[in-house]
Amino acid sequence: MNNSPILTSEYSALVGATIHISPTEEPIRDGVVLMQGEKIVSVGQRAQLQFPETAQVLDCFGLTITAGLCNSHVHFFERKWADAAKIPAPELARQLQDMLTRFGFTTVFDIGSLWENTRRLRDRIDSGEILGPRIRSTGEGLVPVGGLPSDQVLGMMGVMKLPAPEIADAAGAAAAAIRLLDAGVDGIKLFASAPRSTPLTEGAIRAAADEAHRAGKPVFVHPNNAADILTAVRGGVDIIAHTTPHSGPWDETLLAAMKDHRVALTPTLTLWKYYMRHDRLSVQEQITNMEVAQLRAWLAAGGEVLFGTDLGAVEYDPSEEYALMAQAGMSFPQILASLTTAPARRFGDTEKVGRVARGLEADLAVFRKDPAVNISALASVKYTLRAGKIIYRAPVGL
Ligand SMILES: [Zn+2]
Repeated sequence: MNNSPILTSEYSALVGATIHISPTEEPIRDGVVLMQGEKIVSVGQRAQLQFPETAQVLDCFGLTITAGLCNSHVHFFERKWADAAKIPAPELARQLQDMLTRFGFTTVFDIGSLWENTRRLRDRIDSGEILGPRIRSTGEGLVPVGGLPSDQVLGMMGVMKLPAPEIADAAGAAAAAIRLLDAGVDGIKLFASAPRSTPLTEGAIRAAADEAHRAGKPVFVHPNNAADILTAVRGGVDIIAHTTPHSGPWDETLLAAMKDHRVALTPTLTLWKYYMRHDRLSVQEQITNMEVAQLRAWLAAGGEVLFGTDLGAVEYDPSEEYALMAQAGMSFPQILASLTTAPARRFGDTEKVGRVARGLEADLAVFRKDPAVNISALASVKYTLRAGKIIYRAPVGL
């Protein structure tokens, strides 16, 4: 596999593809993306777009290009990421490809891991030592007192030990949030409730959320049921990290509260299917139908969706998540928005990523087929580029 940058000349061009420049605009057929260094300098039809003869050309005839994808709910908490400073570079690069870049992800938001470890991982990528995606992280999530799973349970989940701060009250929540924000995290994650512990109060959630917002950072909540969502929304969180299929349909009160507070949802539909895999088929179907119905209701309310799978807790292939989102009624433009423009807007990146447009970073996903025709094509990636560099190239023959 060749991971070298294609940029040996100043200009490079992806030539011949169908280009979905954004979810809302008509695609360009037989198009060209011209890049200079890390940036996109022009996008247009091949017949109309002039580009320098010295430009290095990557043949993309028959392929389809979108902006690089964002997964807004991942975790670098599996044991494979432990001691991130010491993992040999080739191994670390392969792990990042396996989990993310081979599926077109150029940006991820990690919402629960060891901050110091994830920061080291990110440093190795951002220094150029290892090819990988842009990473944001909340670091350790805040949990209710006694809410942290035992080391034994974490071990069975394949997760490294996570000394998360346990929160008793508003003062404790504020203090824990400030500690994390001072350490440099990009957002705050709260677990609204946990087995065998008292759920966080609205006041505690608000105390942490206020600190995050003062620092200009988003707040994510892990809810276990609809009541958790309502408390969290009233407490000022920004992103609901899961659907909650075990607590029945989302009613009008909940949907209205979510909408009024302008929250976004990462549906994580595959997660519940995965956790229910040992249950009877009829039970599995019931849960799947419920989570799909919750997402459908949220869409009908005009709610914002950010693609998110709880990656690290589930299998890496996102195919099933795309299929379930489509089953909930999401069109290709809506799914593409959840992967590109919606997270860019939510995380303040619209001037940098999320579209295939002049002046933006050349973060691009190149697919074998057009996902507008069949959504499953979103999981079949030929090249992934970050800032003009190929950070994933599918093995020859695939
Ligand atoms: Zn998660």
